[in-house]
Amino acid sequence: MKDLRLAGLKAERSTIEINGVTIGGKEIILIGGPCAVESSIQMSQSAETVKKAGGKILRGGVFKPRTSPYSFQGLGREGLDYLVQAAREQSLLCVTEVIDAPSLELVVNDIDIIQIGARNMQNFELLKMAGKINKPIILKRGLSATIEEWLYAAEYILSSGNPNVILCERGIRTYEPSTRNTLDLSAVGVAKELSHLPVIVDPSHAAGRRDLIASLSKAAIASGADGLLIEMHPNPAEAVSDGPQSLHPEQLIQLAGELGAVAEAVNRVFACERNYEEETLESLRGQIDNIDQEIIERLAARMEIVTKVADQKRLDRVKDSYREKEVIQRLTVLGNELKLPSELVKKIYPIIFDVAVQSQIRQKLVREKEGDLSLVSPLVSK
Ligand code: PEP
Ligand code: MN
Repeated sequence: MKDLRLAGLKAERSTIEINGVTIGGKEIILIGGPCAVESSIQMSQSAETVKKAGGKILRGGVFKPRTSPYSFQGLGREGLDYLVQAAREQSLLCVTEVIDAPSLELVVNDIDIIQIGARNMQNFELLKMAGKINKPIILKRGLSATIEEWLYAAEYILSSGNPNVILCERGIRTYEPSTRNTLDLSAVGVAKELSHLPVIVDPSHAAGRRDLIASLSKAAIASGADGLLIEMHPNPAEAVSDGPQSLHPEQLIQLAGELGAVAEAVNRVFACERNYEEETLESLRGQIDNIDQEIIERLAARMEIVTKVADQKRLDRVKDSYREKEVIQRLTVLGNELKLPSELVKKIYPIIFDVAVQSQIRQKLVREKEGDLSLVSPLVSK
């Protein structure tokens, strides 16, 4: 990579200073907020959460480059006002994505940091325009871009006159379907070995699912990331985009509270501003609501598997008392270890088994009926 004249490694790593926030220094910077700006209340709630989590920057897309032309494309100007206003209320900086010259022009004066998304990483005209403004740029790695292509994209911005580029690893497309993309954490080390620019990690678009965000965030810090960009929504179930990967507010605060130890282990700092005394009845109930929602989601996932199991069983073997007893015993021991009252497992699990068995029996009866009918008329089975 001989031509990385400006992005290539220098004697000193670059730090980017924006109104008192330094990216690329000892402190890990948290950027949080929803995928898309939807309303004023959504943004002020998000800003409050990001602030509580010790975040420094509020995100929110007002121009959404979506895979489908029929998906929500962003609120534009109206959304920009909600984002900026919410950030100001909490003394946070703000970042939003631009997709072309008009969107850049619209946001450039009000926004602290401009994002160029994965889908536009090699939009060279946009990169050159971003090079001509005096706001820092977060440059996402393209969906299928090599590290070299990513660094050359940064070089476009730098060589057009803007020295303040922050690289953002957000997962690349691989053959693995369990996650939306594959988070390439080696890219953090490689990019930092080849370039002096700060590197942050977006675990949200990499994973595509909220259950992996906490561990990937910690791994990102351990791998040398200078910051995290995490999607969070006041009510992910209602989010217009990327709900499944968005953390619930309490989850972001909880995660932030755990990041300091990881940062310290790699000689960095992350200070969560969470004040435990601030735990009000309302915030505690919010935490309980989130957990309840997860319990129901996990039960639904369990029922889906139960349905698959039905096909593997004979009708007279649907109820397996021996397995039921063994599972309840195992979970009671686990419950005891976790200091749960033992009657909780003993009361809940027989109900779960009962509902599962009933649904399996119903399914077997339906299947048998289908089978009988298909003997009468081959058309029915089609
Ligand atoms: C985003 O951060 O909102 C986004 C669209 O991310 P990416 O460009 O990485 O897909
Ligand atoms: Mn998103």
